[in-house]
Parts: sequence; structure tokens; C-alpha cells
Amino acid sequence: MKRKTRLIHGGIAGDPHTGAVSVPIYQVSTYKQEGVGGHKGFEYSRTGNPTRHALEELIKDIEGGQAGFAFGSGMAAITAVMMLFNSGDHVILTDDVYGGTYRVMTKVLNRLGIEATFVDTSNLENIEKEIRPTTKAIYLETPTNPLLKITDIQGAAAIAKQHNLLTIVDNTFSTPYWQTPIELGADIVLHSATKYLGGHSDVVAGLVVVNSAQLAQDLHFVQNSTGGVLGPQDSWLLMRGIKTLGIRMEEHEANTRKIVEFLVNHPQVEKVYYPGLETHPNHEIAKKQASGFGGMVSFDVGSQEKADQVLNSVKYFTLAESLGAVESLISVPAKMTHASIPKERREELGITDGLIRISVGIEDVEDLIEDLTAALS
Ligand SMILES: *Cc1c(COP(=O)(O)O)cnc(C)c1O
Repeated sequence: MKRKTRLIHGGIAGDPHTGAVSVPIYQVSTYKQEGVGGHKGFEYSRTGNPTRHALEELIKDIEGGQAGFAFGSGMAAITAVMMLFNSGDHVILTDDVYGGTYRVMTKVLNRLGIEATFVDTSNLENIEKEIRPTTKAIYLETPTNPLLKITDIQGAAAIAKQHNLLTIVDNTFSTPYWQTPIELGADIVLHSATKYLGGHSDVVAGLVVVNSAQLAQDLHFVQNSTGGVLGPQDSWLLMRGIKTLGIRMEEHEANTRKIVEFLVNHPQVEKVYYPGLETHPNHEIAKKQASGFGGMVSFDVGSQEKADQVLNSVKYFTLAESLGAVESLISVPAKMTHASIPKERREELGITDGLIRISVGIEDVEDLIEDLTAALS
């Protein structure tokens, strides 16, 4: 099966009981048992729900793993994955991970004794230097948010295997349409499905795919024990979103390419961050490990005043957190998504007050460029 076909025919097709082409929303908490323990695969909806199960089978198929899991948000998914570790375990993470990931590692999971070190994983040597006897995993986000840095997944997974560590990849930005980390050697792939997978700014969800029967058993145990599951209605909405992921990603990509070209040539723009640019330091790896570069672009206009001016002038770019939906969104990471990262650390990373991030939607690109032209003038 090719990619777009798998998005539509992967997982569980329709409903065998009625012939319904779309998987029904099983809005139910419990299931009748024919005698104690005599159930039809479902006992209680925290443990398993048919609609959520269909979504979990679908994400498993499109990421090419062994089992899928759906959670109430991306952060719930990330937290559940971290619950695979014990007090005293150490995880090495990409330094400009999603702000919420940084926060949960440094303000919540640290209290439970899970230690984190953040390094620039786009240079693999930085990972090796931080491996300790207690290190259990390498956690990558690639491309990163908002600087679009790229880590060589295959290279990192090879280091992980050598030291008997798990490789975990947050694949939110690329989606399995462009990048399938398990094929590159990752053990666990996770998503904020709130973004491209949902695609319509109408659902908050998280997904995880694991690549072994043991991890599947362990993560199901955590999911059922801690209970951060996705409800049936939202599971259904996500399946609906995923069906059009392919055509949406193609449009995001085509629009983004034109916008990047516009930004690179604009005199008010000091710097453009996009892995599709040949001048991007990790362009070759991006090209090798993903079949598309995605719809996220960041650019620096030099100062907070100029950034404010752009944000206040645009009309088709909605000022909002989040990304990956059909409508174009614009944000200033330093003041919004990355506000939970201390200022000194932000500046170390290059997340300046003049840095603008856009999530390019699937509107007509001529309108988007006209909008940016006016806002930058
Ligand atoms: C949004 C996001 C998350 C968190 O997901 P939620 O669904 O908001 O909980 C994690 N990783 C990345 C890359 C994200 O963009």
C-alpha cells in the first residue's frame, strides 16, 4: 500500500456489523459480559474502546510499528512514555524541544527522579558525550520547534542501540506522511495529534506508536493505569482528519516553498529557518530522512517592535498558538509557545524576540504572500 492509500485503508475499515463505511463513535464506558470474563475484547473504555482502538490501529499502520496508543493530548502521550522509566533513570533530549516537553521534564518528572539532559542533537557527538550508566533513552524532536533544526534519526538510533537505549521521536512536525522514524530505527514515535494529524484546529490529542511487543505491553499497562486516554468522539475526529493528511501535507508543502522563497528575498527579513533551504545546515539529512520538509517556517525580523508590527497587520494568518491546521497561523515563540523557557536559555537557543513562526495553511498562496507583503512593508 502506498502512503495516501494507507491513510484511508489502514487500520480498521468501517463497521462489520452494519456496513457503515466510517468507524462508528462507540460512546460507551462499559461492555456486557456473557459470564464473568466472557467479553468480546472490550471490558471498560479506559482499558479499550472500539473507536479508540480503530484509531490506534490506524496510527500503528501509518507509522509502521507494532502497536498504537491514543491519549487525551500530546503532553499526556509524552508523559505516559516517560512513565516507562524509573526514578534514577536519565533521558537525553533535543535542546529546543516543544516548551511543554521541557516543562514536564524539568518541573514535574524531575520531582519523580527522572533526570533529563538537553543537548543539540543535530550534532550526534553531543548525544554520545552525555550518555551515563543510568541513561535509558534518547528523545528527539526533528524538525524542532521553532528553529527547524534536524537530527539524523538513523545516526542517533545507531548510537542508542550501541548503548542499549531507546530512541523516542516526536514526529509532530513531519507527520508519518513525510517521515517514518521506526523505519529509521526508532523504538517509539509520538505525536501531538492536535496538529497536522487532526489538521482542523478542532481536537486535542496525542498518539504513540511502539515497535516491540514488550513496549506495547508496557505502554498499555501505563495507559490503563494512569488513564489519560482519548475519548471516542475525539478518536473519530482524528481518524477523519488523518484520511486527508496526504493531500493536506502536499498543499502545506507547496505553499510553504513559495512563502520561503518570498521571505528569503525580502529585505526586512534577516534570517529564514526552513530545512528545505539548501543553506539550512542540516538540509542533506532532512532530504535523506524525510520525503518533505513540512509547513513550518520561522524568520527573524530583528526586533520585538517589528515582529509586533507584522503580527498586528496580517489578516489571513491568525495569531494563535498551535500549528498544522488548514488555516495559516502566526506566533512569536518567545512570547507564546516558548514563554515557559527562561529568557537566557531562549536566547542561547536563538529564539529571539524578533523571531516569528508561521504554520502555513492551505489557503491560496497568492493571498498569503500578499498578506505578508503588506505586513512587512
Ligand atoms: C503541541 C506539541 C506538543 C504537545 O501536544 P498537545 O497536544 O498540545 O498536548 C508536543 N510536541 C510538539 C512538537 C508539539 O508541537
